[in-house]
Amino acid sequence: MKSSIKITALIPISFLLFDFFPSISLEAFGPSGSFNHIRILKESFRAFTEETGYEIRADCQEMIVQGNLKSDSEFMNSEGYHCDNNNIFGCGLELRDLKSKSEKTTFFSDSMISIGHATHIIQDFYAHSNWIENHPNQIEIAPLEEPWMLLSMSHIQTGYYNLAPILHHEEEAVECLNLSFEEMQNFFPFATHICLNKDSEKTFRGGGSVESNPNITLHQWAGLHAVEHTKKFLVDAFNSDHKNLNLCLISKKLSFSCNNSIFKLRNE
Ligand SMILES: [Zn+2]
Repeated sequence: MKSSIKITALIPISFLLFDFFPSISLEAFGPSGSFNHIRILKESFRAFTEETGYEIRADCQEMIVQGNLKSDSEFMNSEGYHCDNNNIFGCGLELRDLKSKSEKTTFFSDSMISIGHATHIIQDFYAHSNWIENHPNQIEIAPLEEPWMLLSMSHIQTGYYNLAPILHHEEEAVECLNLSFEEMQNFFPFATHICLNKDSEKTFRGGGSVESNPNITLHQWAGLHAVEHTKKFLVDAFNSDHKNLNLCLISKKLSFSCNNSIFKLRNE
């Protein structure tokens, strides 16, 4: 009992330290996990082809990947780009804005970059929120593109990366680390990014298993949700006749799946 108290006393210091080194904690779907942003995109592009019969040209895939990865470098401190700080409504609005930018922009490359940023938001949402704890049995896509629908889901949250709102609530923030899988399904007022994120198997939550399926880690479950939602985002754009994405499409019959294969070779 005594030793557990000592360990608990050290936790606030350690998680504060983690948050003072953003490169450690904001690396959503970071390279140390089995699912990273590149893998999620690759799998989404393939699933897109299966569903629509069209491949996305390899150069367009590359620009989308670059846009996605830039969110963690150039836009590291924009919370909306990473669905952090319990502002899910804000990240939904950012997603809508990027989607509309990608449709309206004059420059084709800007459009692809905006699609990349948008897919980053979608992917980070599942790694940073308690959505997957609330959907342990089958993949359920969150209505991020219609964020007002999330306002009625008050139990869904993301964690604080910016620690200002939890100052003077350190004890509650540490308490979050003791919550069980089931308890994580509820809203917890002072949850930090460290307590919630599943960016890799090595994060506090990421290596844990889904209660109803012990063979799958929370990181993998977040990754599978991210693939499904990214594919849906692309298919929705295809169905709504997205003019810039349309320029990237090649019928699978004509391409012999070359574009997806070329992209498969891309270094992770
Ligand atoms: Zn991110």
